[in-house]
Amino acid sequence: MTGPTFLRAPEDQAVTQSLEEAFARRYGQGPEGVWSAPGRVNVIGEHTDYNAGLCLPMALQHRTYVAARRRPDGVVRVASQQTEASWEGQVDDVGPGRVPGWPAYVLGVLWALRRRDLPVSGFDLLVDGYVPVGSGLSSSAALSCSTAVALADLVPGGDRLTRQQLAADCVLAENVIAGARTGGLDQAIALRAVAGHVLLLDFRDFAAEPVPWTVTVRGWTLLVVDTRAAHSLVDGQYAARRESCERAASQLGLGALGEIDVDALDGALFRLREDDVLVRRTRHVVTEIDRVRGAAEALRRADVQALGELMTRSHRSLADDFEVSSPELDLVVEAALKSGAAGARMTGGGFGGSAIALVRVDEMQSVAQAVASAFAARGWAAPYVLEATPSGPAARVS
Ligand code: ADP
Ligand code: MG
Repeated sequence: MTGPTFLRAPEDQAVTQSLEEAFARRYGQGPEGVWSAPGRVNVIGEHTDYNAGLCLPMALQHRTYVAARRRPDGVVRVASQQTEASWEGQVDDVGPGRVPGWPAYVLGVLWALRRRDLPVSGFDLLVDGYVPVGSGLSSSAALSCSTAVALADLVPGGDRLTRQQLAADCVLAENVIAGARTGGLDQAIALRAVAGHVLLLDFRDFAAEPVPWTVTVRGWTLLVVDTRAAHSLVDGQYAARRESCERAASQLGLGALGEIDVDALDGALFRLREDDVLVRRTRHVVTEIDRVRGAAEALRRADVQALGELMTRSHRSLADDFEVSSPELDLVVEAALKSGAAGARMTGGGFGGSAIALVRVDEMQSVAQAVASAFAARGWAAPYVLEATPSGPAARVS
């Protein structure tokens, strides 16, 4: 029987040391420092960001590291331990449509800080990442946010920028320079996480309230399953969901579906009754925002079962009403629930990526095995798994 592959987060110290050595080999001199930022998993609150709703993300122990050294000559060099592709040019060369590939996530931040009239000089940068890439665990924000804290520390005046301003710069970097759509959730948690907590994030004003992750004191934990199944049509489907939500809100005379109180939902659905799709999309968004509130309350009471039930209901709503699940995600949820999980759901935008399950610490292995066996029975590649333990925000590590 093939077991699931557990991805463990390495120790900061081990990564830092090898990254400093690799930096010196590559650039002929060691870095001025090493900074890191976490990947994240969203515990609940999906497709709520563009509806002015709520969500509840957690920063992972799995992080992306960046080593940096300033250069006086305006030359920028960017490389990653994960890929051969690198970039070299002048600070002035960075602009929209001018940086291909992954270096855009790094150079975009540099560009965003220059727009604030900060005196950004040249840089040598080397990246090393331990967040699974393209799995919905936000390796992209871990990359842009680790770069942001590095540059904010090294550029004169950068220390005056708040975490919220840095998050906004990272969003701008990803949207404008990397050409990636991102609503700000990933950057907010990467830069504003509190260790041992999840963040109750309000997309109306980006207010972030830390909620203690009490699951651990009850002997439970969060298992993340990366299905490794990427689906096509994701972009078109995402755009279609977003458009439906905007259309529903406008038919109701609202700015966003998040403005509908759950007690007023039936009335709103009655007004949308001519269009079954809009009814179901609206029902997901409004009930999901209510479930996020319920989940935060459940955590404050350390009520694992209540949290688990909300997670499973979130999955059903995403699968049935919002129609963004996939056979792989559904199978993770089904197998996890059957083998003792208190709750399980897809996480992230959907159509692939990762799912999460709330499991007893001493059952984490057996639940992971059950999921892997279910995948094997369908002839699907074994999923990757990791444990999500709420860690701290982007910071300097050496
Ligand atoms: P996710 O954020 O869910 O992992 P995205 O598609 O948003 O998926 O971001 C993945 C992209 O981020 C990669 O294709 C690559 O461009 C960039 N990236 C992330 N981590 C690294 C890394 N360690 N080295 C180079 N590029 C990286
Ligand atoms: Mg991303």
